[in-house]
Amino acid sequence: MFADRDGTIIEDRHYIADPADVALIPGSAEALIRLRALGFALVVVTNQSGIGRGLYTLADYRRVAAETDRQLAEAGVTTDATYFCTDAPGGDPETTCRKPSPVLYRQAARDLGLVLPGSYFVGDKLSDVLPATTLGGTGILVRTGHGAAEEERMTEEMRMDAAKGAEEDPAKVAEETGMAPESRTEAGWRIADDLAGAAQLIDRLES
Ligand SMILES: [Mg+2]
Repeated sequence: MFADRDGTIIEDRHYIADPADVALIPGSAEALIRLRALGFALVVVTNQSGIGRGLYTLADYRRVAAETDRQLAEAGVTTDATYFCTDAPGGDPETTCRKPSPVLYRQAARDLGLVLPGSYFVGDKLSDVLPATTLGGTGILVRTGHGAAEEERMTEEMRMDAAKGAEEDPAKVAEETGMAPESRTEAGWRIADDLAGAAQLIDRLES
């Protein structure tokens, strides 16, 4: 289960650079505990273009990340890993790690031995859930953070991307992931009020 951080796990404070601004969204820690109990690996994937734009430093990011992890641990849950991309928008779409690029998800899959088809991609922006199309999982847009506004943009963009994802060669995906093509989960889109709602939905879809 891949989750975005800002606006999904913690409140979106717009280029958060101070650990004092870290506040868990109510229910998000409990949601991660629930997903952990379902047997999911928990991986945070976060765009941190504030670094690439020069708005804050890598050290600021690390302090905020550490405070996020501390608050989650205090609430009883530890994530498996966090991957972040410092690229500002407008980089080479072939090489950038910036979501919706699949780069960081593939990296996590290699590092942690994860199966991307069948994974869940949860976040408050379309860029958080679009990788589900490329990688063969289920995207869940949450309405916290930017989610409610992003929901308005959803239909057309996601239809386009779903069409693009459908063109991907299943045999190639199978080779990359070691999974039989027929075991791929149909890519799909869902919407939940928040991470707690997403966890509830995943629980239902998995049982
Ligand atoms: Mg976000």
